[in-house]
Amino acid sequence: MFYTASEEDIKSGKTTDFYFINTKKILEEKNINKNVVVEITASGLPNNYRWGILSGLYEALLLLEGYNIDVIGLEEGSLFYQQEPVLTIEGNYREFCDLETALLGFLCQSSGISTKSARLKKMAGEKPILSFGVRRMHPTIAPMIDRAAYLGGLDGFSCIGAEKIIGKKASGTMPHSLALIIGDSREAFILFDQIIDKSIPRIMLADTFCDEKREALIAAESIKNLAGVRLDTPGSRRGNMSKIIQEVRWELDIRGYKDVKIFLSGGLDEESFKLFKDADAFGVGTSVSNAKTIDFALDIVEVEGKPFTKRGKLSGKKTVLRCPKCMAGKIVYGKTSDKCACGEKMKPAQINLMKKGKILIDFEDASDIRSNVLDLIKKVEF
Ligand SMILES: [Zn+2]
Repeated sequence: MFYTASEEDIKSGKTTDFYFINTKKILEEKNINKNVVVEITASGLPNNYRWGILSGLYEALLLLEGYNIDVIGLEEGSLFYQQEPVLTIEGNYREFCDLETALLGFLCQSSGISTKSARLKKMAGEKPILSFGVRRMHPTIAPMIDRAAYLGGLDGFSCIGAEKIIGKKASGTMPHSLALIIGDSREAFILFDQIIDKSIPRIMLADTFCDEKREALIAAESIKNLAGVRLDTPGSRRGNMSKIIQEVRWELDIRGYKDVKIFLSGGLDEESFKLFKDADAFGVGTSVSNAKTIDFALDIVEVEGKPFTKRGKLSGKKTVLRCPKCMAGKIVYGKTSDKCACGEKMKPAQINLMKKGKILIDFEDASDIRSNVLDLIKKVEF
């Protein structure tokens, strides 16, 4: 058996932290039924990021579905700031306390990946970025990773297991192993072109046996509709990678292959897009799939209708206001609008998500959420 929890295990609280078992036992033994409001917030963001992108909300709602609780929160793909409650749950604490571990897990990891993806996309601008990093993570969460990356703004993903939940086809080029098993790059390129469906762009991996310039020209000369060459040069051969890209571009251009794009992959992160500005498209791996999680925490902020919380947290059920123009945020108590510093009227960002365990919203397609994220990130600075 793989070392994973089933959906049923997660839903029934079997991946909880042990201290919630202790808590639940005491509440049950003493028949303590207190109505609480809990809020999920991040006290800070990774690397002091100014904003994050929320995702994992739909799985969180599926986890909470059926429990006698009410939930409000930000929408999937929302921009959020530290201290803002992204999810607020009301109900008998005993009813849902043991779901906290799984609930945070759904939100923390997915939002971490979506946040990183949104940052990369903002850095890369119009140039496409594909998510190639599922191989570095446990395969059971591969679909989640690619969905979180895609809705965070990346343009495509490699894992075919994510196609169903994203509603879009996975994509990819060719691995080094193809050229190695065929024994020759040119022959591998030709076979790819002969056999692979015409709808798949002809992007040839041009660094398996010899210099990138040479293999890129071999690809250009042997494939009629060559869309691009991919450079995935290993670290030990990199030297000055931006110079290598410039050389490849030059050699392709002077021979009339101006339309052949240069696709770069291997160890890329936020600084790569400026550094490798002559590349046309990127494949990102670990920097996205292993993105720092958003350290959301869940805290009681009201008990039996009264503001009540621990040290270091703000009590009371809060409203998050958002400015539709500049995306500024404000956390308020007992009011539903305010004026933004930019002059625009701020509106509540939270919506009703669940009433007595029933989900109130329709789950949006990943593509629609992604379009919204792309609009959002244009309105904010890093
Ligand atoms: Zn504003």
